[in-house]
Amino acid sequence: MIDDSNKKHYIAIIGGSISGSEAAFILAEKGYRVVVFEMNNLPYGKIEDGLPKWHVNLRNKQEQNIDQKLNHENIRFVPNVKIGRDILFEDLVKNWGFTVIILANGAWKDRDLPVTDINKFIDKGLIYQNALLYWYNHKHEPNYNGPTYEIKDGTIVIGGGLSSLDVMKLGMIELVQNALLNLKGIDIDLFTFERKGVLKVLEELDISFQDLNLKGMTLVYRRNAADMPLKTPRDNSDESILKAREVSEKLLHKYAKNFMFQFIPLSSPLEKVENKGVLEGVIFYKNKMVDNKLIPVKEDTFEIKTTMIISSIGSLPEKITGLPYDYSILKMKNKNGYRVSEFSNVFAIGNAVTGRGNIRESKKHGAEMANKIIDNHLLKEDLMEVWLTNYNENIKNKVQEQMDEIEAEIKSKKIMSDSVIDTILSKTQKLQEKTGFNSYKSWIKLKTPIRLEDMLTK
Ligand SMILES: Cc1cc2nc3c(=O)[nH]c(=O)nc-3n(C[C@H](O)[C@H](O)[C@H](O)COP(=O)(O)OP(=O)(O)OC[C@H]3O[C@@H](n4cnc5c(N)ncnc54)[C@H](O)[C@@H]3O)c2cc1C
Repeated sequence: MIDDSNKKHYIAIIGGSISGSEAAFILAEKGYRVVVFEMNNLPYGKIEDGLPKWHVNLRNKQEQNIDQKLNHENIRFVPNVKIGRDILFEDLVKNWGFTVIILANGAWKDRDLPVTDINKFIDKGLIYQNALLYWYNHKHEPNYNGPTYEIKDGTIVIGGGLSSLDVMKLGMIELVQNALLNLKGIDIDLFTFERKGVLKVLEELDISFQDLNLKGMTLVYRRNAADMPLKTPRDNSDESILKAREVSEKLLHKYAKNFMFQFIPLSSPLEKVENKGVLEGVIFYKNKMVDNKLIPVKEDTFEIKTTMIISSIGSLPEKITGLPYDYSILKMKNKNGYRVSEFSNVFAIGNAVTGRGNIRESKKHGAEMANKIIDNHLLKEDLMEVWLTNYNENIKNKVQEQMDEIEAEIKSKKIMSDSVIDTILSKTQKLQEKTGFNSYKSWIKLKTPIRLEDMLTK
C-alpha cells in the first residue's frame, strides 16, 4: 500500500536516461513526487547520441522503456535544463527544498587522450568518440547544424572494447561508402554495409581497396587482441578465462576482416607529430604483457603518419560545479556507495558514480545471461547489442538495490510543507513553459528526430 505521506516529499533527479528513469519510476510508483531535470530535449542519453544509429531495434527498445517509466503522473519531466548551467547545483540544493537530490547524469564526457597538448587539435585532426557519434547519429536530419566530420583515409583509432569496434565499423563504412559514391557513382546505404560488412559489399561489386585508392583505418590497442573485453569469462577458472580470451581474439579478427581495418596491439600513444600547426602523426610506445600486467617499454617507439585520430578510450561523468570530486570521480562517503560526500541528501546512481556503471557489484543475472547468449550465438549476434542490453540491465538492477536504501533515507527526512511543494510546482512549470513542454508523450513525439531508416524507406 502507498504511504500517503510519500507525496509530501519531492525528489529531484538529474538526468532522465537509463538510471534516472529507473529511479524516478520506482519512487513515483510508491507515491513520491519526482522532478527529472534533463539537459537535452530527449531523456535518452547515450542511447540516442552514443549508440551508432544502425542499432535500430536496440535503440527503440531502450528508448521505449525510458518513455514507459517517465510518462508517469507523479513525475514532472523538465527538459532542456542543465544543472550546473541553467540552475546552479548550489541553488538546487540550498533553495529549492527537495527532500533529496539524485544524480543520474551518466558518463558522457570523453576521457582526455593522454598525449601532451593534443587537445589543441580537437576538430582539426583529433575527434573524440562522443562528438563523432553525435554527428554520425544526427547528420542525416534536415536541420542538423552541429559540427561535421569527414573520416579521412589512414585514420588511427585509439581504444579497445566493443565501442571502439563500433567506431571502426562506422569509420570504415563512411570511408568506403563515400569513396564508392564519389569515384564510382555507387550509392549503398548504411544498413546494407553494416549487415554485410565492407568486405562482402566490395566483393559483390568486384571492387578492391586499390580501385578506391584506399588504405583503410587502423585500431591501436594498448594490450593484446585476447585482452579485449569482448567476452566475459563464465567464471574465474583458468579454463573459462582462457576460453574467453580465445573468443575475444577471434571476434576482433572477425571484425577486422569483415570491416577491413588494421589492428596494432600492445601500443600506446606517446606524443603527437605536428608540422606548422598541422597534425601529421602519432608516436607510439610498445607495451608488453607480463603475468597479465601491462608493462610499458617507453624506449621502444614507432611512428604512424596520419592526419586524423579518433580517441575511443571511454567516458567519464561531466563535473558539476558545487559537487565534490576526486580528480574526475565524484567523491562518495564510502567506496561503492551512493551517498555523495559533504551532503546529507545528495545521492548518485548509475554511471554518474564512477563512469563504469558499477557493473562489478551488480552481476545478479545479467552476466550469466550474456554468457549464454554469446555462447549460443557466437560470432553471429551483434555483440554490442548483447553487451549494452546486459550492461543496462545491470545498471537497472543496481539502481533498484540503491533505491531501497535511498528510500529509507527519504523516509527519515522531514515531510515538506505545502508552500515548498507549491514553489517547486510553480518553478518547474515555468521552466516547462519556457521550452514549450506540454505533456511527456506529445513532447517526445515532437522532439524525436526523423530516423535514417524512415528516410530510406520513403
Ligand atoms: C557507444 C557506447 C559507449 C559507451 N561507453 C561507455 C563508457 O565509456 N563508460 C561507461 O560507463 N558506459 C559506457 N556506455 C554505457 C552507457 O553509458 C550506459 O549504457 C547507459 O547509457 C548509462 O545510463 P545512465 O543513465 O547512467 O547515463 P546516460 O545514458 O549517460 O544518461 C545521463 C543522462 O543525464 C543527462 N544529463 C547529464 N548531465 C546533466 C546535467 N548536468 N543536467 C541535466 N541532465 C544531465 C544526459 O543528457 C542523459 O540523458 C556506453 C554505451 C554506448 C552505447
